[in-house]
Amino acid sequence: MIKYDYIMVRFGELSTKGKNKKDFISALYLNIKHSLKEFTSLQIETRYDHIYVKLNDEDVNKVVERLKDVSGIQALSLVYKVPNDIEEIKKGALEFIKQVEGKTFKVKVKRGNKRFYMNSEEITRVVAPVILKNTNLKVDVHNPDILLNIEVRDEGTYIFDETIKGAGGYPLGVGGKAMHMLSGGIDSPVAAYLLMKRGITIECIHFASPPYTQEAVIYKLEDLLRKLNRYQPKIRLNIVPFTKIQEAIYDNVPESYCITLMRRMMYRLADKLAKRRNCPVISNGESVGQVASQTLQSIATINEVTNTPIIRPCATLDKLDIIDIAKKIDTYEISIRPYEDCCTIFTPKAPKTSPKLKDVKEFEAKFEWESLINEALNNIDSKFIE
Ligand code: ATP
Ligand code: MG
Repeated sequence: MIKYDYIMVRFGELSTKGKNKKDFISALYLNIKHSLKEFTSLQIETRYDHIYVKLNDEDVNKVVERLKDVSGIQALSLVYKVPNDIEEIKKGALEFIKQVEGKTFKVKVKRGNKRFYMNSEEITRVVAPVILKNTNLKVDVHNPDILLNIEVRDEGTYIFDETIKGAGGYPLGVGGKAMHMLSGGIDSPVAAYLLMKRGITIECIHFASPPYTQEAVIYKLEDLLRKLNRYQPKIRLNIVPFTKIQEAIYDNVPESYCITLMRRMMYRLADKLAKRRNCPVISNGESVGQVASQTLQSIATINEVTNTPIIRPCATLDKLDIIDIAKKIDTYEISIRPYEDCCTIFTPKAPKTSPKLKDVKEFEAKFEWESLINEALNNIDSKFIE
């Protein structure tokens, strides 16, 4: 087992420069710090285009596992660090490569520090012979088993071989906040994860209809959010009492239109709460064509209640692909727990797949839903899951 000095953290998608880049790096730094807080002897150093995690005596594998979940990291490398001195570089390169498995190698030098007294080619030309002389390794410039990277930077020279793929995307927080509709099904936690990967933080809204829906659904949501805490450490969950609205709909509206109206009410509530909490967008787990309320015509009729943009990360994903992601982020087993949701209890036999806006407006005129919406908003039960 090689004793590495540092983990080199590379950023993804950093085409942005200047202030955006600074914000990106400082957000990433804080997220990394948070995700590694249990490793008390680590030190985190920010440089111009990398972040370095100094391992000291911490378990490198555990730290890497944690870092793989941090969005905004493109790749990780486990590195040796030596002073900017060619003798030290030679010694370090040899010591490093002796511990890596393989039969062939190639040296790849990058000189970020242009003041160093040798250029990349000169460094390669002195390091390679040292390896050839002291090991059984052979050079293969096209398809080497070991790619020995040597990066000369201002603060020292880093030596490493492989790169480990990171989560990609943007650091959490740089993308703003979305009001996310969380249902306890399979899709909405996956949608939340996909948003977080893009650097968007979420706050959740859930519509509960007790006594038709059980308290156990809330525990399920909390368990789901605890899984998502790996990507966003603190998530606010808002439970909206939805029973009266739902009953009013079922008392006043033909069965085939109930789902359409119910979802319009959900959007109205999400929209109002989004504005209160400074969320410029709403998000959810809708997937085109999955159920009657998610045909394009349904989506259009439901969406008509608001101008707020609605992000649907699962929109075009196949259910099986959504399930794969759910398994990867460990939410699947929780999502399939068999509790009734407010959408399942009143499921009509033949929901409209092409609800007409004219009809919808006519049904909505039949009952006093505005006051019910305000009452629901005033009785939100809100908690942080962390
Ligand atoms: P999921 O889509 O999460 O698997 P589902 O299939 O039960 O759950 P749908 O009926 O497909 O949910 O609803 C589509 C989306 O609407 C959900 O992904 C979720 O974002 C939102 N939604 C549905 N029911 C609720 C609810 N009770 N509270 C909050 N959001 C909900
Ligand atoms: Mg669904």
